[in-house]
Amino acid sequence: MKNPFDTPEREEFRAQLKAFVDKEIKPYVNDWDEEGKIPWDLHQKAGALGVWGFGIDEKYGGLGEDDNFLRAIYNEEFAKCGAGGVGAAMGGRMISLEPIQRLCSSEIKDRVLKDIVTGKKGSSLGITEPGGGSDVANMKTSAKRDGNHFVINGSKTFITGAMTSDYFVVGARTGGSGLKGISLFFVEADRDGFSRVPLDKKMGWWCSDQATLYFQVIRHKLANMSSKIDALEALVNNICWNMNNGEVPVAEISKAKFFATKELEYCSSEAMQIMGGAGYLRGNPVERIYREVKVMAIGGGSEEIMRDLAVRQMGY
Ligand SMILES: Cc1cc2nc3c(=O)[nH]c(=O)nc-3n(C[C@H](O)[C@H](O)[C@H](O)COP(=O)(O)OP(=O)(O)OC[C@H]3O[C@@H](n4cnc5c(N)ncnc54)[C@H](O)[C@@H]3O)c2cc1C
Repeated sequence: MKNPFDTPEREEFRAQLKAFVDKEIKPYVNDWDEEGKIPWDLHQKAGALGVWGFGIDEKYGGLGEDDNFLRAIYNEEFAKCGAGGVGAAMGGRMISLEPIQRLCSSEIKDRVLKDIVTGKKGSSLGITEPGGGSDVANMKTSAKRDGNHFVINGSKTFITGAMTSDYFVVGARTGGSGLKGISLFFVEADRDGFSRVPLDKKMGWWCSDQATLYFQVIRHKLANMSSKIDALEALVNNICWNMNNGEVPVAEISKAKFFATKELEYCSSEAMQIMGGAGYLRGNPVERIYREVKVMAIGGGSEEIMRDLAVRQMGY
């Protein structure tokens, strides 16, 4: 179906990213997934396409403008490599770029922003703590002024890109209880007292045995999956259009997040069912996508928290 929001610029961007993902990522994705890392030069190759420049000033290597449709295209095309870890390893920097551009001093921005946007260096956002991620307002990490600098005490966990990032935006408590007592700090990884430990292997029920038997026709599964994706795309298009017009429809964004992960869960399960045993074998893209669904349903705002936020925004 033709997308009414497509423009020549957006179509060209999509074609460019599709070619990049097909050539530079897809052939290697299984090996990288098994190795648990991607080569660093991929960051720089992707950075050269401008994929982290949305909303970033041109003098820092950014696009000098923002377009939520281009952001959506970036996420869609990278997702098509079939391994969520690739997009997360490179795109983890995106959640720290905006606070760096908005809140850091000119001295810091001049020194680091271009390297992050072009993929030369990595950056991460550190909010989640071992005690819990959803309850951000109850953050325990603290920061105390000591002369002309701050000393941060505490720990963060699940931080995407943390083993390779040079720069971090870290949440820490400087004031009283609740969200208003939290400040964001720009932290460089080479500072005294900073250390990092990799998390062990993430999710996977690799030795368990479950099966559900279905006797439906496959074409109906494809129709159902396709209709759900169409509905989701319409919702995302609507959000992109509103955001390009200066609105931030928080309730709709929250609803889209949990709606998308529920549909992803459905589609990946159905895809695996269609593939049968082959879909369950390591190395099959369907197996990987099925295994990674839960990360999307929990990370960046779990489904429960998104539902809660949506109804609150709706005034209930
Ligand atoms: C692969 C991956 C990458 C991540 N990357 C980053 C990153 O770069 N930076 C970062 O800061 N964090 C990151 N996170 C952390 C992520 O944001 C948290 O996992 C998420 O916020 C949930 O927090 P939690 O895991 O501590 O679960 P908890 O907060 O302990 O929640 C556990 C369960 O309880 C439910 N729950 C909690 N509170 C409520 C409530 N009030 N009402 C109803 N249900 C509730 C949740 O929905 C969830 O199902 C990442 C996580 C993953 C898995």
